[in-house]
Amino acid sequence: MSHNATLANTLFEDVDFTSLTWLERQWMAWYLYIGNPVLATGLMTFLIHEIVYFGRCIPWIIIDAIPYFRRWKLQPAKIPSLHEQWQCTKLVLFSHFTVELPVIWFFHPVAEALGMRTHHVPLPSFSEWLPQVAMFFVFEDMFHYFAHQALHYGPLYKYIHKIHHKYSAPFGLAAEYAHPAEVAILGTGTIGGPLIYCAVTRDFHLFSMYIWMTLRLFQAIDAHSGYGTYPAVLIVRQGRTKLIDIADFPWSLQHWVPFWSGAEHHDFHHMAFTNNFSTSFRWWDRIFGTDDKYRAYRARVKAAKVASKTERDTMERKLMAEVEAEGIRAKAEVLRGTEKRKEKVQ
Ligand SMILES: [Zn+2]
Ligand SMILES: [Zn+2]
Repeated sequence: MSHNATLANTLFEDVDFTSLTWLERQWMAWYLYIGNPVLATGLMTFLIHEIVYFGRCIPWIIIDAIPYFRRWKLQPAKIPSLHEQWQCTKLVLFSHFTVELPVIWFFHPVAEALGMRTHHVPLPSFSEWLPQVAMFFVFEDMFHYFAHQALHYGPLYKYIHKIHHKYSAPFGLAAEYAHPAEVAILGTGTIGGPLIYCAVTRDFHLFSMYIWMTLRLFQAIDAHSGYGTYPAVLIVRQGRTKLIDIADFPWSLQHWVPFWSGAEHHDFHHMAFTNNFSTSFRWWDRIFGTDDKYRAYRARVKAAKVASKTERDTMERKLMAEVEAEGIRAKAEVLRGTEKRKEKVQ
């Protein structure tokens, strides 16, 4: 018997091949082609991660290069240059190879020990993976909320999280622009959900993990894209008031899911260096009041009465400058705190 036939017998014993879909047949073919399940899973996971990450970033790089889209840019004065995007890509690639690749490799044996199915066909159906992915979103968002706040604490900020805050106006590629330790800490929220689920139910397939990974990358990249929906502004003309200029980004997921954080929520975190610590949803920041400054800012923009679009832009620029200046002061405060603690120890 050939090596492939032996492997097919070991990996796909008792499989009814006639009932398989096209995707399931490709899935099987990949495992047979690579010939080693650990290698096949590791390679596929890494490739999917890279293709989804950079594939999702490309549209945002193009959008940044087209002036037409500036009307939806949350901080219109700050368009990342190609040089800046390339610098960012280099660090992102470095941490993909040094942190994510080993974690991805390690994930397979750990998850399999916890009962995850990998090469197995058939693949899980929509009704199987949908509730799982929804749970992972909720878990990751909660984990991220607390871990991210911890990363704003003196030494953790100074030595780890400061790198991610290099850009006060983020862009897609900056989603994973972070210290390798931060990638590892916050990545725990992403892989923790599936591992716990696997350990508890002993019923989980790698395919669901890929759907989760893809959607989570979309969420992170879109949250950093810098494009979103502006607050509405009142315009007063000849004594009459009307609402104008809701620069409504047509692709904002927030249109359908009102508690979805979206770009505009996280963009504020980068601009103001405070508030909005969660990733996907708004509820933790609302419960703990860590969105007070953000909401006050939105309210001020909304309440402002202006006579023209130019006046509105000037007013908005002024408000943004105030928020950013406050953020710079807060950042310096965190770093000063670290220095003071160091002096006390000496
Ligand atoms: Zn932060
Ligand atoms: Zn960020």
